[in-house]
Amino acid sequence: MNMMNLPSKACVIGHPIKHSRSPLIQNFWLREHGLQGSYERVDVAPAELAEFLAELPATFRGCNVTVPHKEAVFRRVVADETARAVEAVNTVWVENGLLRGTNTDIYGFLANLDVGAPGWDGPSPPRVVILGAGGAARGIAYGLLQRGAESVAVVNRTASRADAIARALGDPVSAHDWDELDVLLHDCSLLVNATSLGMTGQPPLSIDLSPLRPDAVVTDIVYVPLETPLLAAARKQGNRTVDGLGMLLHQAAPGFEKWFGARPRVTDELRRLVVADIEAHP
Ligand code: NAP
Repeated sequence: MNMMNLPSKACVIGHPIKHSRSPLIQNFWLREHGLQGSYERVDVAPAELAEFLAELPATFRGCNVTVPHKEAVFRRVVADETARAVEAVNTVWVENGLLRGTNTDIYGFLANLDVGAPGWDGPSPPRVVILGAGGAARGIAYGLLQRGAESVAVVNRTASRADAIARALGDPVSAHDWDELDVLLHDCSLLVNATSLGMTGQPPLSIDLSPLRPDAVVTDIVYVPLETPLLAAARKQGNRTVDGLGMLLHQAAPGFEKWFGARPRVTDELRRLVVADIEAHP
């Protein structure tokens, strides 16, 4: 792609958008790589989405997409196989005049686990329990299947949403109620919280982790607070834990590479910058 003729900016769209930490991450990488360009927040109301996308190539190289637009953008761009599997797009770029989209949340989730809990997916294929059946849970279930999971149990308050994920992704993904959790945890090597429970301002996530095997890994995709009560409880009983901030950092890397042509690294310095921002504005 000839980048010379493209605008120098990228952005993140959502509604609301003012709390997005994507500009902090992307502008850190622009500075680190000594690149001209910038990355900004754009508040796009649902009724304005079609017009925004039609005009995007005149102003931006591409954009990240967050709540509530991931599914609507999926329907409006040329989506790759990953985005088609989860019917949601979080990264858009312009290629030969066309808007193309992918979903990097899945990559971000897996890269975070690879770094935070090396060996989590072996030697035996993972047996996974996912709490939650929203957009994030569906992507995570898909990613875990790609990585060879032997079973993926999706546990959700609203049964129809867990059923929908199990139907869309097929065997070995199954749908369950919360009252089955105790039994599921006995046999699980990876527990994922993909609900919003435990996030600052949301109800707590209180579950009994004692049935977990000592070698099970526990990860939470909520990252405010950084150590959620779930992770604190898992750490206390000796399980390996991985916080959700790395998912946010890693999912940002493929977009930067598409727009600005360099593969950025997720470093301790970047993590410290974002942690300081979370502490200042939880
Ligand atoms: P979503 O589509 O709104 O799904 C929310 C999920 O939480 C649903 O399964 C919902 O269950 C469950 N839930 C909410 N309140 C509940 C309650 N009181 N009791 C039981 N279950 C409850 O959201 P999402 O996009 O999947 O995101 C989920 C969380 O992940 C959010 O906190 C988001 O910030 C975080 N996230 C983090 C990253 C990252 O990079 N680390 C990326 C994406 C998302 P029902 O279906 O029964 O409502």
